[in-house]
Amino acid sequence: MTVEKSLRVCEKGHKFYKSSECSSCPTCDKENKPKSGFLSKLSSPARNGLVREGIDTLQELAKYTEKDILKIHGIGPASLPIMRASLEEEGLSFKE
Ligand SMILES: [Zn+2]
Repeated sequence: MTVEKSLRVCEKGHKFYKSSECSSCPTCDKENKPKSGFLSKLSSPARNGLVREGIDTLQELAKYTEKDILKIHGIGPASLPIMRASLEEEGLSFKE
């Protein structure tokens, strides 16, 4: 038995085939991926979690404590050292 893949069109008009319920568009996923910056270093669940909270810059990230950040859905402890290092590069740090 073959899995039926259905043609989907995302809101931007990209056509893609997906068999699962997950309807994320691979083209948009790539476009949404930041070219540089700390967000590009994070896993996509962590990145999406931050962006959903409106945290898309290090300056914004520095307003939060590590505890606050870990409460955001999608962000695991493994993301913290990456964010901490990125903050340090800019002379920033998490809120105490
Ligand atoms: Zn798309």
